[in-house]
Amino acid sequence: MDEKISEILKETEEKLKPQFERIEKIAFINQKKVLDAFIELKVSSQCFNGTTGYGYDDVGRDTLAKVYAKVFGGEKAIVSPLLTCGTHAITTVLYGLLKPGMTMLSITGLPYDTIHETLFGKGNSSLEDYGVKYRQIDLNDDSTFKCDEIYKQVKKYKPEVVYLQRSRGYSSRKALSPFDMKEVFEKIKQLSKATTIVVDNCYGEFVDTIEPTDVGADVIVGSLIKNPGGGLAPTGGYIVGKEDAIDRIATRYTNPSLKLEVGSYEMGYRLFYQGLFMSPHTVAQALKGSLLVGQIMEDKGYKVIPSNDDIPQDIVKSVVFNNEDDLVKFVQTVQKISPVDGYVLPMPWDMPGYTDKVIMAAGTFVGGSSIEFSCDGPIRPPYIAYFQGGLTYEHVKVFAEKLLEIY
Ligand SMILES: *Cc1c(COP(=O)(O)O)cnc(C)c1O
Repeated sequence: MDEKISEILKETEEKLKPQFERIEKIAFINQKKVLDAFIELKVSSQCFNGTTGYGYDDVGRDTLAKVYAKVFGGEKAIVSPLLTCGTHAITTVLYGLLKPGMTMLSITGLPYDTIHETLFGKGNSSLEDYGVKYRQIDLNDDSTFKCDEIYKQVKKYKPEVVYLQRSRGYSSRKALSPFDMKEVFEKIKQLSKATTIVVDNCYGEFVDTIEPTDVGADVIVGSLIKNPGGGLAPTGGYIVGKEDAIDRIATRYTNPSLKLEVGSYEMGYRLFYQGLFMSPHTVAQALKGSLLVGQIMEDKGYKVIPSNDDIPQDIVKSVVFNNEDDLVKFVQTVQKISPVDGYVLPMPWDMPGYTDKVIMAAGTFVGGSSIEFSCDGPIRPPYIAYFQGGLTYEHVKVFAEKLLEIY
């Protein structure tokens, strides 16, 4: 039995060789990119020191922001443990850029679930409460942009913000490649020069050799407990982009007089630097792991999204089970092979913000980190498990081995 399983694993890895080689090539390019920025910006052990109180002249904070700006192709950045998560960072961006009467146009359909209250909440200081207008254009069924409709609306409404989400969230669409954004961004800028293009970059960092900022996005934003934290950053978010946009966002990140002059973190910044340094490799590990699991499930006849033949554009993968038992078993198995709380059995449960019961596995070192191997599934047809991350490919391979025993 054991021999048969290791034989299947070996054959599966053989099948994935071209994909793995492509991923390793990307990781190498991104590793050099990160390393170059560290050297050019003179990262030293002094940058790891924490500060207290106001945090004036916090070298660790300021250098980290410069490194992020350089790595992610922007002019300026906000990188901070004071941004509590990706949702907070995205919300900070939107409040910084949008004033009453202004328009936000989402061109990738409805944004991620946790942003809905920011956009539409009633009586909770949402953007709608403040008189910001929201418009939305969905993607085509094949996950491409509805270009004609986008250009028509940009021309007509001159939206102050055009918003995109690179990853797919809890939908079945494909994640977007920065390479596919280039033409659309150029045309939007031609039609409306003053528009600020914002990309929710969560789960997309270092998946390819370029980021949306490299093809004309004005602002990208994401979470430090996903890709760019490399599994080491303990919390936080980042915002990178054009100087003018970042300055406007900084007035909401702190306040109009303080902007980026304040913000201390006594624990120090080593893990943020070390995590960013590790990130290109860690993202590659996660991508390879997701392809291995995807291939095994696909070979067993399950539908996997994105299909294993597709080049992944984010680190999220999902398996469609069509029944509750198989979904629950899959998520529980992720927990069972976790280094933290591996003895705990997760059950489907009501969660705040969700309409259906959800089962989640997150045996992570950093609470809720999803660059670490993690998985969740809403208990509703067609019973899909969404999984992502993996600090080491070998960890996900242990999971793959278990799958071959179970399914
Ligand atoms: C995770 C995620 C967010 C929100 O980030 P949190 O850190 O969970 O608040 C936003 N958008 C996308 C696409 C995400 O994957």
